[in-house]
Amino acid sequence: LIIERFDQFASRLANIFVYARDCTRGSLADYIPELAKQDPESFGLATCSIDGQQAMLGDARTAFCQQSVIKPMIYALAMGLNGENQVHRHVGREPSGRRFNELALDPDNRPHNPMINSGAIMCSAMIRPHWSVADRTSLLARFVSSAAGGEPVDIDEAVYASERATATRNQSLVKLMDEHDAFPEGSDPRTALDVYFRACSLTLDCRRLAVVAATLANGGVCPTTGHRVIDSRIVRNTLSLMLTCGMYDYSGEYAFSVGLPAKSGVSGGLMIVVPGVAGFALWSPRLDRQGNPVRGIEVSRQLVEHFPFHIFAGV
Ligand code: GLU
Repeated sequence: LIIERFDQFASRLANIFVYARDCTRGSLADYIPELAKQDPESFGLATCSIDGQQAMLGDARTAFCQQSVIKPMIYALAMGLNGENQVHRHVGREPSGRRFNELALDPDNRPHNPMINSGAIMCSAMIRPHWSVADRTSLLARFVSSAAGGEPVDIDEAVYASERATATRNQSLVKLMDEHDAFPEGSDPRTALDVYFRACSLTLDCRRLAVVAATLANGGVCPTTGHRVIDSRIVRNTLSLMLTCGMYDYSGEYAFSVGLPAKSGVSGGLMIVVPGVAGFALWSPRLDRQGNPVRGIEVSRQLVEHFPFHIFAGV
């Protein structure tokens, strides 16, 4: 067993959950109107070890739209379909130091990395560009589903419609990239945005998101099904970018103080990967100034306080 005495581990996790639940700072994202309807009190936490032991707390079985938490999976799928070189011809791997939706490209006129909007839209453009948006979305949904243990993944149509109706900034990002000829030949910038919006609207609960995180922690093999879902080289690349770019403009601070690859999103979701050990998933819609779930940062800090999970803890 990778975590001996899992019941003890789960009860210590429950203490962390109770501690973080008291934290009611932060506010809901409202620039996508549908997200402002989330219950601010919602709080779910789940874990899955690389040998498939699971624990769940609070609203861990309530599905929520993934928003940016899905970006590592968009990137991983794009790389599986196109190869690392082709993907990185069109998207960098450097933290941008700017807001996640800033109108900015790197010196080679590429999005800075796949964890910000421009980079995720670019990766969406590279998912089977000649297929219909519906088929591309279901390819991604099936990929996410396999990483999450197999049950189908739904789309929150209300969130999708809401985001599409308030898309000016993301449309501007597409125009900026198009103007600089950033998109690969044969891709269609307009449908890329639609694929991206549908990807952000995919829903999972913490229980299943923790299995996705555990699949990444396990080098790409889903711990609950035993199926290889992602190439280990792709997992390595994905985790590297989650570590350096996954937590908005708090990524450097998070890498320093928590030391784990993670990805947050504006709906309050967060997945945390402890390589070779376990995955964690959290959902709490109140966000801090950087856009990360306040309770998510609290739980992350507590995790590395109580367990030797920081990737440099043992050196
Ligand atoms: N779909 C959101 C957007 O494009 C994702 C933002 C996020 O979660 O960071 O604005």
